[in-house]
Formats: sequence, C-alpha cells, structure tokens
Amino acid sequence: MGVFLDSVPFSGIIRIRDMMYSVKDPFRLDQGDVSFDSPDTVKNAMRLAIDENRSHYLQTTGVPRLLELLAEKLREKNAIPVGGPDEVMVTTGGIHGLYIICQALLEPGDEVIVPDPEWPPCVGSIIAAKGVPVPCPLHEQLGWRFDLAELASKITAKTRAIYINSPGNPTGGVLTREDIQTISDLCRERDIWLISDEAYEDVVFEGEHVSAASLAGMYDRTISLFTFSKSYAMTGLRLGYVVAKDAVLRDRMKKVLFYTASNIASVVQFGGIGALEGSQAPIAEFRDELKARRDLFYAGLREAAGHIFTGEAPHGAFYAFVRINPEWVPPAGSPTSRSWAMTEFLISQGRIGCVPGVDFGANGEGYLRFCFARDRKELTGALKSMKALFA
Ligand code: PMP
Repeated sequence: MGVFLDSVPFSGIIRIRDMMYSVKDPFRLDQGDVSFDSPDTVKNAMRLAIDENRSHYLQTTGVPRLLELLAEKLREKNAIPVGGPDEVMVTTGGIHGLYIICQALLEPGDEVIVPDPEWPPCVGSIIAAKGVPVPCPLHEQLGWRFDLAELASKITAKTRAIYINSPGNPTGGVLTREDIQTISDLCRERDIWLISDEAYEDVVFEGEHVSAASLAGMYDRTISLFTFSKSYAMTGLRLGYVVAKDAVLRDRMKKVLFYTASNIASVVQFGGIGALEGSQAPIAEFRDELKARRDLFYAGLREAAGHIFTGEAPHGAFYAFVRINPEWVPPAGSPTSRSWAMTEFLISQGRIGCVPGVDFGANGEGYLRFCFARDRKELTGALKSMKALFA
C-alpha cells in the first residue's frame, strides 16, 4: 500500500548520477557542482576548530559569531534591514533551509507559485510539506523571466507564497529590479509570502542581483535563503542560512531545524566564520572564471552542435539551458520524452552528462541542462565528444 511519501517526487538528477557511474571517463556536466576548492580561509578555520576541539553541541540556530557576521553581511551586501543575529538561522545547506521554510509556512493544500522550469527540490519540498506547487512558466524569449501578468493570474485564495530564484537554476535567468518590485507589490496587495532563493547571488555576469527583502516594506513578508555552496565552493560541507523578520514564523522554523539537525555541524560553522572574516576575493575570482567558462562553452557548443542546440548565454548561475532542435531524430527505442532521449543519447554515445529539461518542469521539455562550472578540460572534452557525435 502506498504512503504519503511515495507521492513526493525524487529528482531525475539522481537517476542520471547512477547512469553516469556506469560510464568510463565521463564528462560530468550533469552535476551542479563547481570544480573550485574551498578557499584557505575556510580550510584553516576548520582545521583550527578541530584542533581546538570544537566538536560539541552548539546553539540550535547557529554559533553566535557566525550569526553576527551573517546579519552584518545581509545588511551591508544585500541591503536587507536585519535587526539582529536572532533573525538569522544557519542550515545544512540551502536545500535544508528550503525544507524548513516549507514545513514552517505551509498547511496542507496551501499553494505556492513556482517557476517552471525550476530546481526540482523546490517542488519536492513543497509537496513534502503537503503544499501544492503551482507552476508558472519562465519564458525563453524574455531571458527566462516571468510574464508578470501571467504570474498574477496564478494567484488564488489558497496561494500562501510565491517562490522566486534569481539567478535561476536551470535557466540562468536573472530577474530585474522591476520584476522583483512588481512581484513584491503583488505579495503586499494579495497578502502573500515571498520565498526568495538567492543561492546564486554571487554568480551574476550581466545585470544586478536584487534581494527582494531589501525593497521597501518587503522584509516583513519575505523569507530569504542563501548558501555557502556556490559563493565559497563549499557544496559538500553543507552550510546555508535563512533570514526572516517574522518572529512567529522563526519560532516555527527553529522547531523544524531542531528536529531535523539539532544544530548544524560545528566544524563547518567555523569554516563559515573563516569564509566571512577572510578575504572576499575568491567570490570575484570564481565569477570571472565562470564567465570565461560560459563563453568558452557557448562558443564551443555553437561550433560543435550549433545545428542541434540553440540558446542565448545566461546572465547568471552556471548552467547552459539549451533548446534541442525539434528536427533531431532520436535513436530507435529512445524514451518518448525528447529531453530524456537526448540525455540518454549523450550519456551512452558521448559520455557527456547532462540533465533533461523536463526534470525541471513540463515547460522544460525540449531543453537540456549542461553545467559549465566544471574545469576547462572537462568542458572542452565534452565539446570534442559532442562534435564527433553530431558531425
Ligand atoms: N537553490 C538552488 C536554486 C540551487 O540550485 C541549489 C543547489 N543546487 C540550492 C538552492 C541549494 O544548494 P545547497 O543545498 O548545496 O546549499
């Protein structure tokens, strides 16, 4: 007999990861992980924490020095009017932050408007909280942004929140200040919460990153989530944070945080302190290198498979979300989903990892995601393989 959890989806990215293990010398453009290593400031702080035996229980919401540094960062860099460190809590990565937000905010049947296509754990976390994700298309011809009238039309009496993710995964679309202002106005007029996923705040190549909670009157109804994963190349260390003004909501989130983690790994929190107290130069270095890799990948893609894949280079994040030429004919016996057919073809024939667009939502069908945060050798290897495949 099925139980509730059976209805919670599991990302196809996991299925692809398993497929990739059977490939010899694979090009892992499927994973959304950077090839950089954590800065020395992080590693040294963790080493010191180990030597100083910082291996005991900590405060539930985070070690005070880290929360203090985060409150300061959120005020200065994000222009969010954070009152104090008690408005911030650290989490086991951004994915845990999102789970906590959904558990704390949603009652069964509450609707959350989500971008389509979107990073799969967004929909998964909403469903796990017995909420109902309501997809709203992102449009390629708008630079993977919303049609804001269409977004407004998705609001119903059951809408509890709108989730935004800018820069976005998988599309790399960056919402403009005007977009976020209009969405904020909608939230205020219709008494809706805004969940702002800012995992890629530091990976903007063109345009600006705007934190929704920095707009006038929005900190009251915005829950913002961030992560050290991309900014400081700490994906496996698992450190994220959530900031919200509403004390009742924070009490609810704190309960979920406590029951799912008790506290976030001590040594990792000290690594976070090292990241924030140390030089911020690695953030710009990572971004500059990612921009160079983006340009390298798109130039190579046009040369190797310009007749198969099309799309503009994204303004943020580190994914190429490209359209598959509708005239491409999949090999016999391929899955009926075109993006799955292309994924299986590239993995089995070219050793090239990628993710089918449909895994990010129905509106992503016909597209493919490649991660260009891999090192240059891996990117050029994948392009070479692709060129041979489509010659
Ligand atoms: N939000 C988005 C949109 C993401 O793509 C990711 C990572 N892939 C995260 C949040 C969370 O990352 P982490 O759990 O590693 O902090």
